Amino acid sequence: MNEQLDALAANFERVHARIRAAALAAGREPSSVRLIAASKTKPPELLRAAYALGQRDFGENYVQELEDKAAALADLPELRFHLIGHLQRNKVKPAARCASVIQSVSSLRLVEELAKRSPAPIAEPKRFTPLGAIADGRLVLFVEVNVGGEAQKSGVAPEELGAVLDAIDGAPSLRLAGLMTIPPVTDDAAGAAPFFEQLVALREQHGGSARLPELSMGMSSDLEVAIGAGATLVRVGTDLFGARGARVG
Ligand SMILES: *Cc1c(COP(=O)(O)O)cnc(C)c1O
Repeated sequence: MNEQLDALAANFERVHARIRAAALAAGREPSSVRLIAASKTKPPELLRAAYALGQRDFGENYVQELEDKAAALADLPELRFHLIGHLQRNKVKPAARCASVIQSVSSLRLVEELAKRSPAPIAEPKRFTPLGAIADGRLVLFVEVNVGGEAQKSGVAPEELGAVLDAIDGAPSLRLAGLMTIPPVTDDAAGAAPFFEQLVALREQHGGSARLPELSMGMSSDLEVAIGAGATLVRVGTDLFGARGARVG
C-alpha cells in the first residue's frame, strides 16, 4: 500500500513538473494550467489518495461510475468532478447533480435538457470557477468540438458551435466556460498541434477568451503540445494512475 502511494505521489510530481516546464517554455504562468485527473475505471480509494496529495479536479467518463464515486467520496469537501465522457440526454439529471463541470456538451438538444434539469442557480461550494471568474452556483459547461470531423466521435461540428454557445449563454442556470476537444489519434504528439490550434482559432471566432476563458485539451501523451497551444486544463489519466485495468506503480 505504501509503495503504491509513493508511486502515485511520484506520478503526480512528474506530471506537475511537465506542466510547469511546458508552461514556462510557452512563456505562460504555470498556474494558468489546471490538472484534471482522468480517473475512469479507477477505484474511489485511489481518488481519495490523490485528494490527499492535493488533487481537487477529477474527470469521469460514465455517469453511473460518477454517481458511485460521488457517493463514496462525499466527505471530501473540495473535490470536483468533471464529466469528460459522452453524455446521453437521459442521464442529464444525475450528471448535473454529481458533476461540477460538464466538459462534454455535444449538441443543442443536450443544452436544452441541461437547462431544464438545472433550473435555478444554487449556492454550491464545489462548483468549479473558471480562471479569473467568481463562483456563482451555475452549472459550468464546456462545449466539446469534434475538430477532426471524425464520424465515430461525439462533439459539435465547428459550423454548429455558434448556436450551441448562444443557447448556453441564454440559459440562466448554465455558465459557459470554454471549449474541449479530443484530437484524432496521430503517430506522435506533435501531430495533435493543428487540432489544438483549430480549437484556439474557434475560440477567437466566437468571442475570444473573454467569453471562453478555458480550453480543455491535452492528455498524457500530448499535454506539452496542448499547453504550448494555450490549454488551460489538461486531462491526464495514464501518467497519473497507470494504464486502465492496471494498478498504479
Ligand atoms: C481517458 C481520458 C483522458 C486521459 O487520457 P490519458 O491518455 O490516459 O491521459 C482524457 N480525456 C478524456 C476525454 C478521456 O476519456
